[in-house]
Amino acid sequence: MFRMSEYMHQLVDPTPVRTRRGSGGVKPVVIWNLTRRCNLKCRHCYTVSADVHFPGELTHEQAMANVKDMEEFGVFALILSGGEPLDRFDFFDIARAARPFTRMLALSTNGTKIHGENADKIEEIGFDYVGISIDGIGKTNDWFRGVDGAFDDAVRGVRECKKRGIKVGLRFTLTKDNAEHLPGLLKLCEDEGVDKFYLSHLVYAGRGDKNRGEDAMHSHTRAALDMLIDHAWAGASGTGYPLDIVTGNNDADAVYMMQWARAHFDDDKLENLRDHLEAWGGNSSGLGVANIDPQGKVHPDTYWSDYTVGSIKDTPFSTLWTGDDPMLAQLRTRPRPLKGRCGACAHQSICGGNTRIRALQLTGDPWAEDPACYLSNSEIGIEDTERLTVTPFRGKRHDPAHRFT
Ligand code: SF4
Repeated sequence: MFRMSEYMHQLVDPTPVRTRRGSGGVKPVVIWNLTRRCNLKCRHCYTVSADVHFPGELTHEQAMANVKDMEEFGVFALILSGGEPLDRFDFFDIARAARPFTRMLALSTNGTKIHGENADKIEEIGFDYVGISIDGIGKTNDWFRGVDGAFDDAVRGVRECKKRGIKVGLRFTLTKDNAEHLPGLLKLCEDEGVDKFYLSHLVYAGRGDKNRGEDAMHSHTRAALDMLIDHAWAGASGTGYPLDIVTGNNDADAVYMMQWARAHFDDDKLENLRDHLEAWGGNSSGLGVANIDPQGKVHPDTYWSDYTVGSIKDTPFSTLWTGDDPMLAQLRTRPRPLKGRCGACAHQSICGGNTRIRALQLTGDPWAEDPACYLSNSEIGIEDTERLTVTPFRGKRHDPAHRFT
């Protein structure tokens, strides 16, 4: 996750760098997909959800044991997600139990169920943040979400949160079919007093994998980033609405912002910004981020469903996360063993090699270049003649049991 607005503020009020990366002591932000069940049918859903019961999901006892383990392990940031997490039968029990030990307790939801008693309970528990997914204005959102009225219901969720003083954000997954809705969504944020805007680049996993032909072309991505940078700068410099802008699933965004800053700021501010971005270090799958799926399987990140570290049904999360899993060990290596354009890139220390699952799903090699990098060869410091191309992965998709080494 790239906190664009936070780094914009560094260009207004520079502060010294705090080094965040460390070795074994790092506790991950845990994204816990509580259930696969969901009342919507999103085209890009990475969990391939449906409004049915999925067998094998964690029992109440198993879920509560995991909450206790996370508390003892020192997890301080927990995002409860789905499917639609509010569709899990004991959602509020889990949230209530996690509240006392988490500094940041967030809910990632489609927002359609946030009203009435649910909204009251979310307020009472004291969630720090509610992120509501929206994929366009009105009918476009409903088309992406597969249900008529989903847009109006999600906006009602935003208003119910605002009414109760709960920090709320919109989460938008960018594709070429909804890129034109970005200005309307930013306007919606301003009109509704939304606190945060999260732009997610499409990752090829789950239903997103089947729809990868719809991924925004690189030019759409650059245009979207230009717009976000304008808004983030206006917010940070006090000339526009102070929306907290964050992007996800494409760490090249940080390099793109650095490039923009280079055209507008002096060397001192640039050096400070670069130091901050390098301290962040880009993609954090398997180190700063962990994922637990509805069945209790632990993954390096939410989109890594093809790679399982182990199951919390058998082994506590804390043990799995601190064990000797070979993929976690590789993902934690700095520098990572990147290949192709990423391997030759001058900005690896900022970007971290971007989203490895995307390289894996398109090429079969988790260390190949990330094909969603929208920067040109000259922008990443390599000669045109060195441009490496991605060979599309033509074999069958990975056997989920296969462990990559
Ligand atoms: S080439 Fe790879 S490492 Fe460099 S900016 Fe692009 S995605 Fe990041």
